[in-house]
Amino acid sequence: MKKNILTGLRPTGNLHLGHYFGACQNYLKMQDDYNFYLEIADVQALTDNFNNPEKVRKNVVEITMDLLAIGLDPKKVHFFIQSRIPEIAELTVFYSNLVTVARLQRNPTVKNEIAQKKELFGNQGESITYGFLGYPVSQAADITVFNGELIPVGDDQLPLLEQCREIVRKFNSIYGKTLNEPEQVLSTTTRVKGLDGNEKMGKSLGNAIYLIDDVETVSKKIMNAVTDTSKIKKDDPANPDVCMVYYYHKLVNSKNIDTVCQECKKGHRGCVQCKRELIEAMTNFLKPIQENRKYYEEHPEIVHNILNEGTNAAKKTAEEQMKKVKQAMKIDY
Ligand code: ATP
Ligand code: MG
Repeated sequence: MKKNILTGLRPTGNLHLGHYFGACQNYLKMQDDYNFYLEIADVQALTDNFNNPEKVRKNVVEITMDLLAIGLDPKKVHFFIQSRIPEIAELTVFYSNLVTVARLQRNPTVKNEIAQKKELFGNQGESITYGFLGYPVSQAADITVFNGELIPVGDDQLPLLEQCREIVRKFNSIYGKTLNEPEQVLSTTTRVKGLDGNEKMGKSLGNAIYLIDDVETVSKKIMNAVTDTSKIKKDDPANPDVCMVYYYHKLVNSKNIDTVCQECKKGHRGCVQCKRELIEAMTNFLKPIQENRKYYEEHPEIVHNILNEGTNAAKKTAEEQMKKVKQAMKIDY
């Protein structure tokens, strides 16, 4: 029996390098060998975009096209829309009894995200909504309603998976062994940094290179990327480890990485030349993805069909799992 994989992306923007190297490379590797459920997490996206429904709506299709363009095969992967699986919302309500508010407030990912969203949630997080604080509970429902055993994610998701395992253990201890504990699958690059040097490249952080960025946009972003600030003149030696340009060379230009590193350390390469080479390598990396994407842009009806079929398949699995959950909870009237 093939194991189930569940993973999700929030339709808050297009895919960026962080998604690709942090999570999607594993999706590509795993799509052949597992039952793969890929959630377009519109309900979760609304927790901090409730006042911008157009953005979420538009990005459901956008992000699906990006995922198809990188090579995910809809014959192997069930692409589904979270809001169309009401069982997830139902299970979230049941799980909300199994987690304390204090535990959610201590979750490091939630804490971090509240701090980044001052405009929405206030300087001290005093305007945090019930929905946002509770999104890890909803994520536990996403995973377990598909009996997701392996979860390919970036490492910002680890505290959320730990929270999910705690809910599973609590559920099983009260209602009897019903649910499996999910395990994470991490990439070799567990977290891709942002153009500004921030620890995480993120859609909501404005520091990302997107897979759809054209040459001009890529050039502008790379030309403005943070480099070793102690390097003043072109032939000053520099420290590649504090330079974001070197950092992205490692991702998309690995075959030349030793040369880039040595020349930088010896002061044999200026930052402008180094940036130009990165722009070329990045453009070459993005080109085939953008070419694949064109096909889906020209055939939006194919994308809608893929989402419909994936959602129908996902719904069946969720309904079966909910029967088991309700039996265990003695609410199977
Ligand atoms: P948002 O800012 O709206 O939360 P995001 O860029 O964090 O968007 P998500 O849709 O939340 O993207 O994340 C989808 C998947 O991509 C998750 O598995 C997450 O861990 C992974 N991911 C996102 N950003 C990075 C990154 N910079 N490095 C590694 N993995 C990442
Ligand atoms: Mg995120």
